[in-house]
Amino acid sequence: MTSPLDALGARAAVLDREHEAADLSELFDVPEGLVYLAGNSLGALPRGVSSVVEHVVRTQWGHDLVAAWNTHGWWDAPRRVGERIAPLVGAAPGQVVVGNATTVNLFQVFRAAARLRPGRGVVITDPGSFPTDLYALQGAAQDVGWRVVLAAPPDVPAALAQHGEDVALLALSHVDYRTGELWDVPGLTAAAHEVGALAAWDLCHSAGAVPVNLDEAGVDLAVGCTYKYLNGGPGSPAFTYVAERHVPHFEPAIRGWHGHADPFAMSPEHEYASSVERVRVGTPALLSMLALEAALAVFDDVPITWVRARSLSLTGFLVDCLDALVPEVTLVTPREHDRRGSQVSVRHEHGFGIVRALAGRGVVGDYRDPGIVRLGVAAPYVSHGDLLAATVALRQVLDADEHLASEPPPAGVVT
Ligand SMILES: *Cc1c(COP(=O)(O)O)cnc(C)c1O
Repeated sequence: MTSPLDALGARAAVLDREHEAADLSELFDVPEGLVYLAGNSLGALPRGVSSVVEHVVRTQWGHDLVAAWNTHGWWDAPRRVGERIAPLVGAAPGQVVVGNATTVNLFQVFRAAARLRPGRGVVITDPGSFPTDLYALQGAAQDVGWRVVLAAPPDVPAALAQHGEDVALLALSHVDYRTGELWDVPGLTAAAHEVGALAAWDLCHSAGAVPVNLDEAGVDLAVGCTYKYLNGGPGSPAFTYVAERHVPHFEPAIRGWHGHADPFAMSPEHEYASSVERVRVGTPALLSMLALEAALAVFDDVPITWVRARSLSLTGFLVDCLDALVPEVTLVTPREHDRRGSQVSVRHEHGFGIVRALAGRGVVGDYRDPGIVRLGVAAPYVSHGDLLAATVALRQVLDADEHLASEPPPAGVVT
């Protein structure tokens, strides 16, 4: 008779072969022996990035100096890198630009949305949103006089019905950062449109992991970060999507010279660029932007649908491993494939202790209150075998009471 562990091991081998097409682990530098399940927080390092950054620093900056703005295409990088991300989120050319932190772009999008829907007094968002999304929205709402109505995605249709044509904007995340639940972008976008509202989506936990189809879904505005599943590196700049039909009327609150129609005219008056480059603000963090550009090469030969198929197989397998080997943790991620992003989250009273103890065994996940252990599954470099190893490590942690050894995190520590 085979043990559950042997059976899972055999299945891992079969599934790894079945989804080999999207196994891009050769393109990444993940330390030997580490099972890295925090790619939903900071993506791993693609092998090609270091030499590009070295070249940009030594040759472009070091040798060519200021001329590099033109000779090495620095000025055009926000648009060029945006076009590289566009196919990953289902956007035709001319709608995506890279630059700034996610939070800044969220604020820009929210304020601009208010100008696109004047005279309406309500914005609807999910109370479970990532905090910075709520903060940016609260700030924008205060500026423009919106009332913030909180509704979890399943309650959004009722909230839209209640507030009707007073709703200016529906602002949601595609994937819940804590639970990994995936929301219905086309359905909720259409519901917002029915009352004449705009829909803005945060793609931080879907870009690079889940096909998004922004154009097809009729999404109005979107923002996403690039250092999670797009592997752009720590602090790599975020992107903004403005649907083509809104570009001519999209007016970001922060007006900068990089978003000017004619930046080098040095005019004292601001005039928005006619293209989507109007979302640019000031001089971008070029080193990070060019590191991101190099990182995106990972996706050159693999359609995002293959990445998604591998991701679903991986997360489904991880759920099966947890069911079989660690039944005492509570799964908070939906089991249905079409309701799941690319992470598996479980709850346990000692969640933080579990994350710490797992790290001691070479399995890196992360922790979010209340009691949630997040296991991010970046399909390009995580295998089914890795996930079985992670589950076995979790079993060992609990059996040896290693999770009881950690105090809760002190304030100010990245968990
Ligand atoms: C990661 C993440 C952010 C991060 O915002 P930054 O400004 O890049 O720090 C924002 N929103 C969501 C939903 C995220 O997952």
